[in-house]
Amino acid sequence: MILVVNAGSSSLKLAVFRDGREVARAQVAEIAADGHRAALPKALAETGVALGDLAAVAHRVVHGGTGLVAPCRVTEAVMAGIAACVPLAPLHNPANLEGMRAVAALAPDLPQYASFDTAFHATNPAVALRYAIPQAAHDAGIRRYGFHGLSYAATVAGLPGLTGQALPRRLLAAHLGNGASLCAILDGASVATTMGYSPLDGLTMGSRSGAIDGNAVLRLAELHGIAGAGDILNRQSGLVALGGSNDMRILHKTAPFAVAHFAYWAVRHAGSMIAAMGGLDAIVFTGGIGENDHVTRARILDGLAFMGVAYDAPANRQNARALHDAASRVAIWTVAAAEERHIADEARQVMAAEGTL
Ligand code: ADP
Repeated sequence: MILVVNAGSSSLKLAVFRDGREVARAQVAEIAADGHRAALPKALAETGVALGDLAAVAHRVVHGGTGLVAPCRVTEAVMAGIAACVPLAPLHNPANLEGMRAVAALAPDLPQYASFDTAFHATNPAVALRYAIPQAAHDAGIRRYGFHGLSYAATVAGLPGLTGQALPRRLLAAHLGNGASLCAILDGASVATTMGYSPLDGLTMGSRSGAIDGNAVLRLAELHGIAGAGDILNRQSGLVALGGSNDMRILHKTAPFAVAHFAYWAVRHAGSMIAAMGGLDAIVFTGGIGENDHVTRARILDGLAFMGVAYDAPANRQNARALHDAASRVAIWTVAAAEERHIADEARQVMAAEGTL
């Protein structure tokens, strides 16, 4: 069995997989990054799975930077690489490292593996990854990375099995949850994505602003200090700022402007993604909003009608797998986000390559 550890900035999520199937899960909410060491044994006990039954532990790591772009065994060098990316993901990477140390303290001989949320976008061309800023700033790490990569990789891996069809050549993937992004996937590889240097860029999100002019960021920093501006942009913006909640179910009743803003910018950014891959063959929705919110999905799909997108309204209302109608030039699918299963699969692949499976 493989234990998947998602050690976040304020929560610890565990899932256990046997032969690619989930057999248990547990979660501890509201812990600080340095609390993972205490939380891990408790959460593991909750899964009912004994340490001795585990073949490996696989971690979700938010930021792998330019160096860590494939799943790998956790070694001292890999941990140093993850630590080097702490300035790029100051809340997440320390928590991921703490999760690894917590496992090592509990079971020093248990092999650990890491999968990176940034890795899927390593295939983006240089023109997409580069900001037009001086070379020294680029070399200091100020470039686009992209996120939600494990969700997109899981979607690419799982879609043909779910639809019974080959992977569409030009696929627009929409991960719409509290964090939200789009990805242009050409022949199975990411060629563009809406998040950039950090998960702030792109779409309007639960509490993040999405795309905003850099000079507006500087002005906010002038007015509120750097930490204050960071808090405004990451925690007080997005749907929370526009509608007083990050829950779409509430916003549909109370804040139509917030919903309209979310859908409008999803469509605007979709246009950019579609241009980056030279057209559109299929759309896939995932994440809490993407899987469940037929009203928001319908607004986004209406905005893409000019691309030949046409959906079946009853299928959409039922959150069905296939949403396209007979006239649609573009296939439309929904899939459940499956990052954790994908992380377990990636660890198994590394183990198979190492000969340790
Ligand atoms: P996270 O990014 O934190 O993992 P989720 O993928 O769980 O977030 O998505 C959270 C979002 O999904 C929230 O905006 C929530 O309102 C929305 N959502 C979840 N279920 C539904 C539903 N049944 N109808 C509409 N929106 C939903």
